[in-house]
Amino acid sequence: MTFGHDEHHWIPESDLEGMSLDTLAVRAGQIRTGQLEHSDAIFPTSSFVYGSAAQAAARFGGEEAGNIYSRFTNPTVQAFEGRIAAMEGGEKAVATASGMSAILATCMSLLQAGDHVVCSRGVFGTTNVLFQKYMARFGVETTFVSVTDMEGWKAAVRPETRMLFLETPSNPLCEVADMAGLSALAKASDALLVVDNCFCTPVLQRPLEQGADLVIHSATKYLDGQGRCVGGVVVGPARYLDEIYGFIRSAGPTMSPFNAWVFQKGLETLPIRMRAHCDNALELARWLEQQSAVTNVFYAGLESHPQHELAKRQQSGFGGIVSFELAGGRAHAWRFIDATRMISITANLGDVKTTITHPATTTHGRLSPEDKEKAGITEGLIRLSVGIEAIDDLKADLQRGFQALNELIDQ
Ligand SMILES: *Cc1c(COP(=O)(O)O)cnc(C)c1O
Repeated sequence: MTFGHDEHHWIPESDLEGMSLDTLAVRAGQIRTGQLEHSDAIFPTSSFVYGSAAQAAARFGGEEAGNIYSRFTNPTVQAFEGRIAAMEGGEKAVATASGMSAILATCMSLLQAGDHVVCSRGVFGTTNVLFQKYMARFGVETTFVSVTDMEGWKAAVRPETRMLFLETPSNPLCEVADMAGLSALAKASDALLVVDNCFCTPVLQRPLEQGADLVIHSATKYLDGQGRCVGGVVVGPARYLDEIYGFIRSAGPTMSPFNAWVFQKGLETLPIRMRAHCDNALELARWLEQQSAVTNVFYAGLESHPQHELAKRQQSGFGGIVSFELAGGRAHAWRFIDATRMISITANLGDVKTTITHPATTTHGRLSPEDKEKAGITEGLIRLSVGIEAIDDLKADLQRGFQALNELIDQ
């Protein structure tokens, strides 16, 4: 954890030992400036001053710890890093300008030409592009496998495999990876297990405790939770994080202090928000399962989900993303979406506001028809990111969708 800056009063790391996640979410990584402010201060400054030329030299020479320039370190950014590191149970965290730059920084600092990556097929669309288009240009090849297909993971590993990359649960079908199995495979293959923990957050799943080497977040989603800022973070042991920090410092996709402050405040309510997301999502998933127009509901909290038991073992909740399928393909899915009035039509997720999207023509629109089929992204599929509104109001809004389908069929 990044505590111990002389010029600020940090809550000492030792005081945090044994504290529960709910407490860490509001207390870890807090700094006080000497003004005795209760809320976290924000340091919107590009650079820092020194008491003397000698001190400047000591800072630049690395003999004295402290801030120099906000592309390197910034107290607000460090406060956020300290808090999320504590929550994920990681030694260090490095914040980045976006979730994608967290993934890029991890690849650029820990892989080199000739290395091979095995990645779960259902990953975030842009992650797919990053590996297939850009990493490939620098000689890093990627093989995509189904996140639940352990034999597929094993078969894809080669002597030059350096990284297994996955999201669990997957987007949008909520498939759950066997973290223990993948961690054993990564260790046996001398590869890093990197988990994008965006959907669960440390509140529901702590991959580092389950054998992952690194955890990545798009802070844009649940960590913020209120749709205000774009950001990302990588958490894990110092031996990797120091490399990643070196890349960020040299390449520049640093998190801005303002965004770090927003995320820091977001983390304070993350545990209670996640519990509210989970409660609403489970209730809606059960309700959707009972609707005659729905052919399939994808949510690991349902007993009918193929990895329900696995999800129960490795997660403390099932998250806020629920997908369901309508029999009538794109026409019915679009009609359903357009009939809602409160729920936001947007591809963003992890917000306190419920959002609805048609993956086949938005988030997964770039996939070829064959890749869509392989990934299970059908034209009738709808994804909800369930927010924290009252459950009856959510049902009433979705009921408008079902009503519109009935009218279609009656016509
Ligand atoms: C949004 C998202 C990303 C990318 O994050 P940005 O902050 O948009 O760059 C990566 N992984 C997952 C699972 C996401 O949902």
